[in-house]
Order: sequence, then C-alpha cells, then structure tokens
Amino acid sequence: MFFRREGDPFERQENLKQTDMANKGQIGVTTENIFPVIKQFLYSDHEIFLRELVANAVDATQKMKVLASNGDFKGELGDLKVIVELDEKKKTLKIIDNGIGMTAEEVDKYINQIAFSSAGEFLEKYKDQNIIGHFGLGFYSAFMVAKKVTIESLSWKEGAEAVIWSCEGDPEFEMGACDKKDRGTVVTLFLDDDSAKDYGNKGKISQLLGKYCKFMPVPIVFGKEQEWKDKKYVDTDKDHIINSIEPLWTKKPSELKDEDYVKFYKDLYPMKEEPLFHIHLNVDYPFNLTGILYFPKIKERMAIEKNNIQLYCNQMFVTDHVENIVPDFLTLLHGVIDSPDIPLNVSRSYLQADENVKKISTYITKKVADRLEEIFKNDRASWESKWDNLKLFIEYGMLSDEKFCERAMKFALLKNTDGKFFAFEDYRKAISDTQTDKDKKVVYLYATDSEAQYPFIEAAKNKGYDVLLMDCELDAHFVNLLEQKIPDTRFARVDSDSVDNLIPKEEKVKPEMAEEDKKNLETMLKAVLPKDNEYYVDADNLGEDALPILITRNEFMRRYREMSALGGGMNFYGEMPESFNITVNLQNPLMIKLVAQMKDHSDKVEEFAGESDLLKQVTDLALLSNGLLKGKDLADFIVRSGKTLTDYYADK
Ligand code: ADP
Repeated sequence: MFFRREGDPFERQENLKQTDMANKGQIGVTTENIFPVIKQFLYSDHEIFLRELVANAVDATQKMKVLASNGDFKGELGDLKVIVELDEKKKTLKIIDNGIGMTAEEVDKYINQIAFSSAGEFLEKYKDQNIIGHFGLGFYSAFMVAKKVTIESLSWKEGAEAVIWSCEGDPEFEMGACDKKDRGTVVTLFLDDDSAKDYGNKGKISQLLGKYCKFMPVPIVFGKEQEWKDKKYVDTDKDHIINSIEPLWTKKPSELKDEDYVKFYKDLYPMKEEPLFHIHLNVDYPFNLTGILYFPKIKERMAIEKNNIQLYCNQMFVTDHVENIVPDFLTLLHGVIDSPDIPLNVSRSYLQADENVKKISTYITKKVADRLEEIFKNDRASWESKWDNLKLFIEYGMLSDEKFCERAMKFALLKNTDGKFFAFEDYRKAISDTQTDKDKKVVYLYATDSEAQYPFIEAAKNKGYDVLLMDCELDAHFVNLLEQKIPDTRFARVDSDSVDNLIPKEEKVKPEMAEEDKKNLETMLKAVLPKDNEYYVDADNLGEDALPILITRNEFMRRYREMSALGGGMNFYGEMPESFNITVNLQNPLMIKLVAQMKDHSDKVEEFAGESDLLKQVTDLALLSNGLLKGKDLADFIVRSGKTLTDYYADK
C-alpha cells in the first residue's frame, strides 16, 4: 500500500472471511479487461511501478514492526529490509521483503477482489487529466511493464501456508501452494520485451530507486557494495543499501546543526550553490506535515527554476510538481515536504479547493514569513548581506500573496544608491522631512540603473535627497504595490522631472512666453530630435548652470510601459511610442542665444533648425545625458564637438 487507506489496515485482515485456496479464478473486474487500460492510462509515467511495489514491501515490513512492538508477534523479526533483484538475462525483476506476508485468503482479498469497478470508473473519468498520485491500484501497476507477475508469500501468522499467485496480464490468475520457507513476499516481474529494453538494466533500476525510494523508512538493498580491486570494481559481500531511512526532515530540529542542513541540501541538489538559509517544518495538528525548505540564491528572473521542492508521503517520493499545493511564489524554494494529508488521488485542478491543502498552504506561508522575520530581527547584518539574493523572491511573494505581503512589510528592505539598507518604516522616517511635497505626500525617489541615470541621481543627491535603487526585474510592479500599501506616498524615478519639480514644495509659476514662440520652439526641437518618439515641449527656468535642454520621462507613462512589457499591464501602453518631456531652460546662456536666433527666423523655423549647429549640439547634449544618443547621431556629435573645440582653441 502506498498511501494511507481509511481505517486500520489490520482490521481488514481480521475481518477476512475464510475462503478455500483456489487453483484458478477470475479477478474481480467489472470492466471486460482492465489490463490494457492499466497499461495505457494508469500513470503517465510507467516507471512509478517500482515505487508502488517497493512501497508495498516497505509497508508490509513496517506492519511487521508494529506487530512486534505491540506484542502480537513474539518471534524473530530478523533483519528487516527490502531487496530488489534484477536478472538482466532472464529479464526478471524481484521485490523481496520479510514483512507480514499474505495468506491465500489475503491474496484473494487484496489482490484478486480489488474494487475494480470504482477503479474502472476512475480511469474513465480522469484518463486525460494529470492525477497527482495514486488511487489504490499500486500492485497492478506492475502490469504496465510485465507480461507476467508472480507473488510468492508466507504470512507471519502461525501455521500459515505459503502461497503462489501468478497472472499473465489477463483477468485470469492461478493460485496454489508453494514451498516458500521464510516469512514475507517475493513479487517477480517478467518484463515484457519493450519494458526489458527500458528497465532491464541495473543502471536504470538504480536511477529509479534513487528517484523514488531514496528516503523510504526501511533499508532497500540493490546489489552489493563494490570495492576497487585488481584494477576494477568488484562486489563485496556487503549489501548496497540505496536509501537513507531517517532523512533529515524526520529528525528534531534541536538535534541538528546548520552543517547538517547544508549537507542534506547538497545530497538533494549536488549541482547547486549553497542555499541562503533553511526552514524546518514540523506540524502534527490539524494536519501532518514535516519538511525542510531552503532559500536558494535568486538573482535574476531568468535563473528562476520552479519544481525544486519534492513532495513525499511518509518518506516516499510522490512528485516534484508542487504547484497548487504551495502558493506560487513558494515554488521558488527548494527542499522537501512530507505529508500524508495531501490528497493524491485527485486531479491537480481539484487540489486547490481541498481544505487540507488550503490549510497546508497557509501554514507554509506563515512559517516562511516567521523565519524571515526572525532573521530580520535577530541577525540584521546577515539579513542585509543576503538581501540582494532574496529580494526577487520576497518581492514576488509580496506581489502575489496578500497575507505574505502584510507580513513582509515589516522585514522587507529598501536599498539606496549608496548601498545602505532600510526597513520600510525607518526609510520613511529618514526622508519625510526633506522629501514631503506640497500635497503632503512623501516622495520616494528611485533609480533603476545607477550608471545610466547617474547625472539625475547626482542632481537629486546634491539637492539633499536620498535615491533608492530599484533595479530588480519586478520593481515596476513593486513600486506600484508600495504606493498602494504605504499611505501618502509617491514614487518618482530620478529622471522623471527636473530636480526642482521632482518634489515640488510649492505651486510653481512657469515663465511667460508668447504662444507663437512656444509653437516655434516645439517645431524647432521636433525637427532635430530622433523620430518615432513623442515629445512634450515646455519652457522653464532651471538656472544658469543647468543644461540648456533637459529630457525627462513622465513617471506614469514610463511605468505603465514597463509593466506591460513585464506582463500584467494593459497592452495598450506597450504599443504606445516612448514619450519624453523636453524642458527648455530659459536661463541657460546658450538657450537665450538660440531662442533669440529662433525669433529672428520665426517665418522659417524648420529650415533654421536644420542648419543650426548650436541647436543640434544642445539637443545632443540632452540626449547624451539620458543615454539616448546612439549610432550615427553619436558619431556626428563627436565630430561636431571636435570641430567646435578646434575652433575655440585656435583663437587661444
Ligand atoms: P494499496 O497499496 O493501495 O493497498 P495495492 O494494489 O498496491 O494497493 O495493494 C493491495 C494490498 O495488497 C495491500 O494493501 C496489501 O494488503 C497487499 N499487499 C501488496 N503487496 C504486499 C506485500 N509485499 N506484502 C504484504 N501485503 C501486500
């Protein structure tokens, strides 16, 4: 048995009616012939047959332990183990255990009279869906790979007679007495030709045992330990045990050291970098769950790998697809969850609606938040040092899970362009004096690229403002979320306006300009600025020393463009051209000159624009400081600048 059944497993055996040992019979199937159905639909992965059979053997062995410990069995337990034996020549695979065994009546009851009617219905209903686990046809999965299966068994019960059962993949079986002397069961699979190719070699069986049986609770033997002798590997007489019967998650956290967790991680994921930290899960009410989750280093979205959590049921591997069981953002974690309370005989789409799964999901989210908060509170230095590798995970969690977001508001950090970290509350306190605008909103200034936006960052810092670094791929969404979560807050990228206007302290009066001049200014600039973009031209007094032209990008427009590029925004914005605000600095001497020249040519502004080197030079300077001057325009700018300098120095 792989997964827990209703009621006590022993009860079923006591309730058995005595039946005569039959020689031949019909398996209790209502469907004409269940075997072709098993082959086709039972599991999408045929390979799980091995897990099912080993799990049955492990289960029979565990039951033996229980019988001994409660005094029902007083004899010798022996060396309890499960042996897997492959005969590559004969194409047979044996699963041997010294568990409770079965009497003929029990074989009849548990193997022959399976409730196939419901299984048939079940198969019919779910054949196109992805069933997460199992639905009580474990033993029969053997027929996915075998043309014939035999069971030889001797029950633990006193005076029991050994029984042999065999079946060739049709509804008929044979059953009779045999001379098996020792307690337990031997299941022999005679692999069919196709399956022999896939599974008839030691390497494959070894791999499958490693995948499915690595942590089963009873020693599983496959072959012998080897040693290097006479220039080759030879078998010793020591059994090769493939599993670890007490994996780390079954132990008490108080008995374990950090190194133990790291070692276990390396066993699970030999190729991966050391994790940031771990959480040991352990709960037995209102559901049963143990496990260890690890936080991997996640630096960029491209590197995100899901499906690294392995789901176990009583130490038996079930799947590494845990989506629908844990919230999406937690699938970024690594590690192991072991719970017999996750329903596995339902299709994935039903999982999320399951009450236990909901509770489990909430529990895990809470535990993860608890652990993160604990590190934040108790070891701030370590928390900060790990932040860059954690940030993407936490931001993803905050964006996708309301409850997690509430918790994370306390331990998430903001990092400024000087590399200093702040908790949300502390940051607000630190900037609210200098960065509150006329509408009483605290303005969080940020940069997404500290190199490209350097001139703007410097301008803001010179003004006494602090600038955050928001360079994570999710930040466009995250900034939005923070604006919603933190009251009276506005986020503005440093290049979204002139430094004076970023955090307006009072209503600003723009310099007056005749309508015609405004229009001409716009025509003139648009004639030389790169095409394909949209420009909003305006004039302002930015000071004598500031550049003649300032290019900024409206916060709202830019953010929505980025969000739609990330997915989640409205596509409408994605298709819009990029838009820029062009601020003409009426106090800059070069601009004063240029405006005067423009006025002199007010009847043919466009022509003037095409010929004015000064105009090109000042617009190029503005483009350059935004990293927008590229290709031929950049080359032209360099040549023009060289010439201007030559002329200038020629007179000196
Ligand atoms: P399930 O495991 O879900 O009960 P199976 O078809 O795998 O379904 O097994 C049916 C029953 O046959 C088991 O519950 C158990 O009682 C019995 N059985 C199977 N394999 C063994 C074994 N190796 N030793 C003892 N009993 C077994």
